[in-house]
Amino acid sequence: MEKVAAGVHQLSIQRFVNVYFVETGTPGEWVLVDTGLPGSEQAIIAAADQIFYPGSHPEAIILTHGHMDHAGSAQALAEHWKVPVLAHPLELPFLTARAVYPPADPTVAGGGSLAFVARFFPPQSFQLTDYVQPLPPNDVDPPFLPDWEWLHVPGHAPGQIALFRQQDRTLLGADAFATCNHESVPSVLLQLPKISIAGAPFNYNWQQVGESIRQLAALEPEAIGCGHGPAIKGPQAADGLRQLAREFRVPAHGRYVQHPARTDENGVAYVPPAPHDPIRAKFAVAGAGLGALVGAAWLMKRYQKRKQNEYPRPLAAEPKHSRTGEVMR
Ligand SMILES: [Zn+2]
Ligand SMILES: [Zn+2]
Repeated sequence: MEKVAAGVHQLSIQRFVNVYFVETGTPGEWVLVDTGLPGSEQAIIAAADQIFYPGSHPEAIILTHGHMDHAGSAQALAEHWKVPVLAHPLELPFLTARAVYPPADPTVAGGGSLAFVARFFPPQSFQLTDYVQPLPPNDVDPPFLPDWEWLHVPGHAPGQIALFRQQDRTLLGADAFATCNHESVPSVLLQLPKISIAGAPFNYNWQQVGESIRQLAALEPEAIGCGHGPAIKGPQAADGLRQLAREFRVPAHGRYVQHPARTDENGVAYVPPAPHDPIRAKFAVAGAGLGALVGAAWLMKRYQKRKQNEYPRPLAAEPKHSRTGEVMR
């Protein structure tokens, strides 16, 4: 557990993704920001009991976006605590099983080991219809957090939000960027601090990714907690984010670089065609080869079984006859 700023506690789930316990300012009241991967509820409940008091519950759960590593335990926690889940209206199609996110782009330039594993992620969508409510779109103050404002930072997820507290310039940046090298799975697991692009294979609109980073850099945060990576505090927070904004370039190539996916209140309106992915093709060939082998083995077994049924008694026990009728030994 790490304190990002006054009343803001970061819990790292499996050294991979963070959730935040944010005190509202009213004693004993707090809000949970994000819920980690599926199956994280026990760790989150235990942390809440430790930070606040046993049996404590938040006023609400706010999701920065609906990706599996942020919304994964939302249903279990909402059921356990009997609290609402709040998200930007543009995330609702993905949180009410009406749509799946644009497919990941494993071919994106510089996607690193995250891009490799992204090939094997299932399509992402959750069914939280009974719990999820939209954030009021014209009100920049998130419910229960009067000292904070939310900012719409799309590009990585259509309704992704960041949270900012002006009084001490604390920024919860979601996956608008990361505080570790998110493209390198080992760097994420080692929690090496570095302000970087987040989740490149999942970024479906690179212009918006750049705009979101510039918007957040302009806030000059003094403390940063993102979805992935350790908290960064002090001058390096604003410096690192300013540098990322200055050096941001769209990737050299990738599915969504020239033509972004288009999304709307119903989900995904357009995705560009998938580029050729030599690694996926190799896996497909290997998979087809394996399938052919398994199929051949199955056919062989079936053929042998049928043969046995045609000749129920073992042939070796009987003298064999050649076609000409002569006995063979
Ligand atoms: Zn994400
Ligand atoms: Zn994430």
